[in-house]
Amino acid sequence: MELNSDEIRRYSRHLTLPEVGLEGQKKICSASVLCIGAGGLGSPIATYLAAAGVGTLGIVDFDAVDFSNLQRQILHGTPDVGRPKTQSARDAIQRLNPNVEVVLHDTRLASENALDIIRPYDIVVDGTDNFPTRYLANDACVLLRKPNVYGSIFRFEGQASVFAPHLGGPCYRCLYPEPPPPGVVPSCAEGGVLGVLPGIIGLIQATEILKLILGKGASLLNRLLLFNALDMQFRELKLRRDPQCPLCGNNPTITQLIDYQAFCGSTPQPTNTPMHPDEVTVHDLTQALNNPQLGIQVLDVREPDEYQIARINGARLVPLSTLPQRLKELDPKQAYYIHCKAGGRSLKALQFLREQGFQNLRSVKGGITAWSDEIDPTVPKY
Ligand SMILES: [Zn+2]
Repeated sequence: MELNSDEIRRYSRHLTLPEVGLEGQKKICSASVLCIGAGGLGSPIATYLAAAGVGTLGIVDFDAVDFSNLQRQILHGTPDVGRPKTQSARDAIQRLNPNVEVVLHDTRLASENALDIIRPYDIVVDGTDNFPTRYLANDACVLLRKPNVYGSIFRFEGQASVFAPHLGGPCYRCLYPEPPPPGVVPSCAEGGVLGVLPGIIGLIQATEILKLILGKGASLLNRLLLFNALDMQFRELKLRRDPQCPLCGNNPTITQLIDYQAFCGSTPQPTNTPMHPDEVTVHDLTQALNNPQLGIQVLDVREPDEYQIARINGARLVPLSTLPQRLKELDPKQAYYIHCKAGGRSLKALQFLREQGFQNLRSVKGGITAWSDEIDPTVPKY
């Protein structure tokens, strides 16, 4: 391939960089990268890879742009709210660099489609926000011998590495053989994330991708980079391929993709599942509140910051994390309707209180989000 005069001008700061130069820029323009997720990490990754001239950028995402994304997902703007993230991403990339071929995969990466989606690309970059997809992307990349440029973020902290057993490094399973028990690690939606953090971690991933394409420098292969934004500190852990790894070890037992939802023990969103026997709907809650004879108490088990944002009138705040210490403030004979944001934590609180001898307990399905959707739209959603 040759660069035309527009491209020579566009990439001139690369061309004058000896480590890139004309040959390096041609490699970048010929490369294909699949970005899994067009969210917090995917935004800076896709933006800068497009600016750098990566020839083909694949984007996998099934989600639509939400207002709560805009604090960090800079591929998307306010007018994009409600649009599919893939389309919004494509528009942003093409505005920046029309030379980039954008391939949209407007679907959820799953065991059934992962190998076919990933196969045509040189490099995969992990911008996922959940464990099933992360293990799936890892396993598919190892099976297809593709470098998997990893990053993850939470609150003020992030980490990044390059997983590529075929290049002599470990895979994600060597580092984390088992997923955490479901519900133990809160998602960014539950725990929050500093808006600039995915920018920092995503650009570390984008840097590693360009180095892999160019074959220059020392990559994060065999290293895990840890970043803390509050302390503004980088730390590094040495990694090694685990010979016992069930995927990339000497005697692998995983030779094809598995059921990752089952592996991670993830339950689908409570609002999509049939009712749990201890659950009531927000309409049941309204009826109970309108019947003073029942004498119910609404117990909010979210964190104080969440309570500040939105609350159900009269609800009593006892965060799930403080429930064991504050147990004596509660009355085992009282009827409690427990709610959280979406219905997950309230079920855990119910389980815990029942083990402590409480008997008259209900968990509000869909939490305050369902309350806002179905009962009181003046309660803000977050
Ligand atoms: Zn491994």
